[in-house]
Amino acid sequence: MKSHFPVVNVLGVSFINTTNAKFIHQLTQDIDERKNTFVVTANPEIVMYADSHPDYAATIKDADYVTPDGIGIIKGTQMLNQPLQERITGYDTFLSLLKWGNDQHKSAYFLGAKPKVILDLKKVLTKTYPNLVIAGIHDGYFDNEAPIINDIKESQPDLVFVALGFPKQENLIAKYRHVNNGLWIGIGGSFDVLSGHVIRAPKFWQDHHLEWLYRGLTDPKRAKRLLSLPKYLLKVKKSK
Ligand code: UDP
Repeated sequence: MKSHFPVVNVLGVSFINTTNAKFIHQLTQDIDERKNTFVVTANPEIVMYADSHPDYAATIKDADYVTPDGIGIIKGTQMLNQPLQERITGYDTFLSLLKWGNDQHKSAYFLGAKPKVILDLKKVLTKTYPNLVIAGIHDGYFDNEAPIINDIKESQPDLVFVALGFPKQENLIAKYRHVNNGLWIGIGGSFDVLSGHVIRAPKFWQDHHLEWLYRGLTDPKRAKRLLSLPKYLLKVKKSK
């Protein structure tokens, strides 16, 4: 763990207490210095999963920065009377890094999501971020990761975006981050959103930090996940 920011502990996970702007500024410095960096963007589900899976908890402890991805984490820290300054989501961080990477002509590797999704992702990237160098792009449904890791090793990208969902993305990063001294970040379903395959919640829901609820209510696959939130809040309360 790099020690640039104070942290607040929620059920054993140490979240950085800072703003989006300061966090991005720090990351861009780390990237410019070719520091090997691992970012976890953690929501309540990840915290609950780590709470019951010691190996995964250890993997997250090895990350350099764990960001509060969602209002549930902010609520948890308020309950602990140690409120974090703001949400730092995987998707917002992804967009900020793409913009900066484009401005600075950096290179990025994209790993994850379905083959159809990454075809469209590539179109969006070349159109919106023409100066960003695409070091490589690969879908997230592979049997053998060796050729992909070799690609990353050969191309030495500044940014490695891994969108395999948790815990896969963090496990892969922890195992292979040593092959490239860039920034490695797990960003869940972000490729689906940027490619237009998953539509973000309408503005009202976003503004009220209810995007998670919107998605849970409109996507049957996610409905079950909503139940983990009350469990999480209860557990945080008990831990106080
Ligand atoms: N995914 C993948 N490989 C897998 C499983 C999932 O590339 O073996 C992708 C999936 O297509 C989706 C992303 O991982 O684009 C994240 O999925 P989800 O939205 O369920 O994760 P979350 O954002 O909740 O972590």
